[in-house]
Amino acid sequence: MKPEDLVRPEIVALSAYAVAPAAGMVKLDAMENPYLLPPAMRRELAERLAAVELNRYPEPNSPRLRELIIGKMRVPAGMDVLLGNGSDDLIQIMALALARPGAVMMYPSPTFVMYSMNATFTGMRAVPVALRDDFSFDADAFIARLRAERPALVFLAYPNNPTGVLYPRADVRRVIEAAPGLVIVDEAYHVFAGETFMDELPRYANLLVLRTVSKLGLAGIRLGYLAGRPEWLAQFNKVRQVYNVNLLTEAAALFVLERLDVLKAQAAEIRAERERLGGALRAMQGVTAFPSRANFFLVRVHDAARAYDGLRRQGVLVRNLHPALANCLRITVGTPDENRILLNALKEAL
Ligand code: PMP
Repeated sequence: MKPEDLVRPEIVALSAYAVAPAAGMVKLDAMENPYLLPPAMRRELAERLAAVELNRYPEPNSPRLRELIIGKMRVPAGMDVLLGNGSDDLIQIMALALARPGAVMMYPSPTFVMYSMNATFTGMRAVPVALRDDFSFDADAFIARLRAERPALVFLAYPNNPTGVLYPRADVRRVIEAAPGLVIVDEAYHVFAGETFMDELPRYANLLVLRTVSKLGLAGIRLGYLAGRPEWLAQFNKVRQVYNVNLLTEAAALFVLERLDVLKAQAAEIRAERERLGGALRAMQGVTAFPSRANFFLVRVHDAARAYDGLRRQGVLVRNLHPALANCLRITVGTPDENRILLNALKEAL
């Protein structure tokens, strides 16, 4: 007997999410914050973590951590949050809960691959709707399709990954108003965009806001949160693995989010560096850099495979999106030093 005889054919047809080995590389492939916490803060955090009672299970959907997030992230009154093992976990939870037979998941395309992967995992029918050639959002086309397909679940990455584009606020509102089901505004990059739908939650019964602490500077702890009406979250809470957020993650998040200003200051530096890097990329011959409101740039080059290999040989790791996005690389904004290395290496690679 072979695995293929038993495993669902749509799983056999999938490729596992690829993560390139990064040891010793200038790592600009995964939209991480390039900065560590300050040394004194790390020492204090180590003490906190040492005191965690690892013999105990965590408290499910930690009330303390939820309360802190609600306060720090300005979750509106009457709304709650559900905690996830990264926002990937919450995407899966929503898909699992909404995957009635025949249910549709819709999203602009290209976008974050985990939406479509979770449609496959859960048996939802995925309906990608193409963005325009410049990756802007065609709200009329999207809404027309929405009326025809009647999706239970719509994902709008705001700003979008891998393009960096922030859709116009009015277009997102129109989608929420036209949608017959839930609309998830995925704000993984909100600190870099300076825009949010968090404050609009009370206005829309079918809106949920998905966030992560990954891009803020805590990718390693795996923590996401879904903000919205308690009646939605109560349903999703049943699908959540009981102990999906572990004790060390909870303790680290409680400690760091109390000191959110440190991460916000890092985000401000990354935003300033984004402007410098964007200018330098746009000035480079043979490179088209699309405007970004996130902490990365989508760039088009003549030959992505060659540019990617050339960068890699010089110790710089980016993401090659070819062939899904023809001759496109996605480059995370790093520290000023990392970005200098990247720019020199890219010139060489081209
Ligand atoms: N949403 C978007 C738009 C993303 O780009 C990512 C990460 N690349 C995620 C969600 C998932 O983030 P995490 O699981 O680290 O919280």
